[in-house]
Formats: sequence, structure tokens, C-alpha cells
Amino acid sequence: MSAPASNGGYDEWLDALADGEGYALVCPDGHGSLPPRRVCPECGAAALSEGPLAETGTVETYSVVHVAGPRFADDTPYVNAIVDFGPIRLTGVLRGVEPATEAVAVGDRVAVGVEERATDGEPLVVFRPATEE
Ligand SMILES: [Zn+2]
Repeated sequence: MSAPASNGGYDEWLDALADGEGYALVCPDGHGSLPPRRVCPECGAAALSEGPLAETGTVETYSVVHVAGPRFADDTPYVNAIVDFGPIRLTGVLRGVEPATEAVAVGDRVAVGVEERATDGEPLVVFRPATEE
């Protein structure tokens, strides 16, 4: 939480996440956000710094997607999940589970990384079940 926020955009953030160096932008009040934010979306503070992203988060909500737009056409069915990482939430695709409602539960611990979208190979935020300690 000491390094000044770079001017990087979302693509650079995704690159950092792929390298295992994911981070969140954190304002002095502890609100988290993601690039390319310039000010805190919660309180408007402009002094955003980069804080490390936790390696695992907990599933906050999810849905099984059977019909998707063209960019995800070859990925269906898949699980779209919103995962709580403390100051921020990330939206991504949960892999490593059956794409079925009963295969996932709110509160499941998942790790975050970057993988390719099946449809077009574009990088994608992907969660996978975290191994229990
Ligand atoms: Zn704030």
C-alpha cells in the first residue's frame, strides 16, 4: 500500500494479475477499485495507491451462463462469479467446477488468475477452487 498508483489501464492490470502481481487501487479510507480509476468511486479521493491483491477470495454471487454473447459463444456453459477480495470485488469466470448451480456455493474460496477465453483467446479473469489449507 505504498507504491504510487501508475497510470496503467485495465490491460496492464490484467498483465500484472497474470504475473501473480495483481493489485487493487486503494484510497486513504480503504475503499478499493480497479484501473483505470483516477479517483475513488466511493468517496472521490484522488490519492489512490496500489495495494496487493489477496491470493484467494470468497464467492459472493455467481450464475451459470448457458447463453452468451458472441465473445463468449464457445465458452458456454460457464460460471460467471463475483468474488470478494477484501477491498475490491472481481468479476470473472469460475473454472475447475462443473458449470452447474449445485457445484458452486457462496463463500467458496477461490484463487484468481488470468486464462484465455475459449472463444477468441483473449485474456480473462479466471477463478479456480482454492486448495484447502
Ligand atoms: Zn474512498
